[in-house]
Amino acid sequence: MFHIESYEKAESVAHAIELLKNNPQARPIAGGTDVLIRLREGKEGFRHLVDIHGLSDLKQCHILENGSLTIGSGVTFTEATLSDLIKQNIPILVTAASTVGGPQVRNVATFGGNICNGVTSADSASAFMVLNALLQLEGKEGIRQVPISEFYLGPGKVDRKQDEILTKFIITPENYKGYLGHYHKYAMRNAMDIATIGCAAACKIEDNVLKDIRLSYGVAGPVPIRCPQTEQAVKGQSVSLQLINDIKRMVEKDVNPRTSWRASKEFRLQIIRELAGRVVEKIIKDSGGRLN
Ligand SMILES: Cc1cc2nc3c(=O)[nH]c(=O)nc-3n(C[C@H](O)[C@H](O)[C@H](O)COP(=O)(O)OP(=O)(O)OC[C@H]3O[C@@H](n4cnc5c(N)ncnc54)[C@H](O)[C@@H]3O)c2cc1C
Repeated sequence: MFHIESYEKAESVAHAIELLKNNPQARPIAGGTDVLIRLREGKEGFRHLVDIHGLSDLKQCHILENGSLTIGSGVTFTEATLSDLIKQNIPILVTAASTVGGPQVRNVATFGGNICNGVTSADSASAFMVLNALLQLEGKEGIRQVPISEFYLGPGKVDRKQDEILTKFIITPENYKGYLGHYHKYAMRNAMDIATIGCAAACKIEDNVLKDIRLSYGVAGPVPIRCPQTEQAVKGQSVSLQLINDIKRMVEKDVNPRTSWRASKEFRLQIIRELAGRVVEKIIKDSGGRLN
C-alpha cells in the first residue's frame, strides 16, 4: 500500500524547485525505485512527492567547449548504456550502470537517484568518485557545485537542501582524458543483488608507469570512499605484479567495512583486497601495459 499525501508533477527544473519550496515536506521522485520502496515500508519523509521523472533538462548529456562532460541526473542506467557520449568518454559509467538491478530497474532508475539516496552500495557512486565528478545542485538560493567526495555526509545523508534538485554531473577533462577505468561489483549472487563490495579505479599509465591512480569503494565504509593513502603511495611506480600486490596490501589502511547479515568484516576485507588487484590489473592490460 502506498500512502501518498501529496503528489505534484513538475514541468521543468524551475517548477520542481518552486513545488519543493512551497511544501517543505516534499522530496523529488525520479525513477522511484528507492522512494516507492521506502513509501511501501511506511518510512516517514516520503509521502509528499514532486515528480521530476522524464524532465528533458535532466536527460541531457553534452561535451562542453572546454572538454567537460555533463551528464544529466535524470539519465537512466539503460540510457547510459546506450549513450555514445558516455561509452566513448567514460565507459566506466556504462560498466557500473550495467551492474544495477535487473532490466526493469535499469529502465527507470537514474544516476541522480542513485547518488541522492546516500547509500554506500550505490553502484554508480564509486565510478563518479574516481572521475572526481562535480554535482550541480539547483535550488531557490541558486546554483552550486559540490565535489562528489564532499556530498556524502553519513549513511543516507547527503549535502542536498530540501528544495534542491541535482541537475547534472560535471566531469572536467583533466579527470577523464588519458585515464582508463574499470568497476567491479562483487555480490553474493550473480542475479540481481546489492553490492557486497563495489570497487572502481581510474588510472593514467604512460610508458609502463602508473602516473596516476584513483581508487574508490562502495560498502567499504558508511559512505562511498576514496583510498588516498594507497593512491599516494603507489603513484609513479612501474607497472608490475609487485605493484598489484602493494595495492592489495595497502588498501586495508583506507577502508572501514563492517559485518552485516550479508557478509562479515573479514570477508569484506578479503574482497576489498582482491577487487583492487583485479580492477587495476584489468586497466593495466587494457592500456597495453606489461605486468612483469
Ligand atoms: C529491485 C531493485 C534492485 C536494485 N538494485 C540496485 C543495484 O544493484 N545497485 C544500486 O546501486 N541500486 C540498486 N537499487 C536501488 C535503486 O534502483 C537505485 O538507487 C536507483 O539509482 C535510484 O534511482 P531512482 O531514479 O529510482 O531514484 P528515486 O527512488 O526516484 O529517488 C531516490 C532518492 O533520490 C532523491 N532524488 C532522486 N533524483 C533526484 C534529483 N535529481 N535531485 C535531488 N534528489 C533526487 C529522491 O528524493 C530520493 O531521496 C535497486 C532497487 C530495486 C527496487
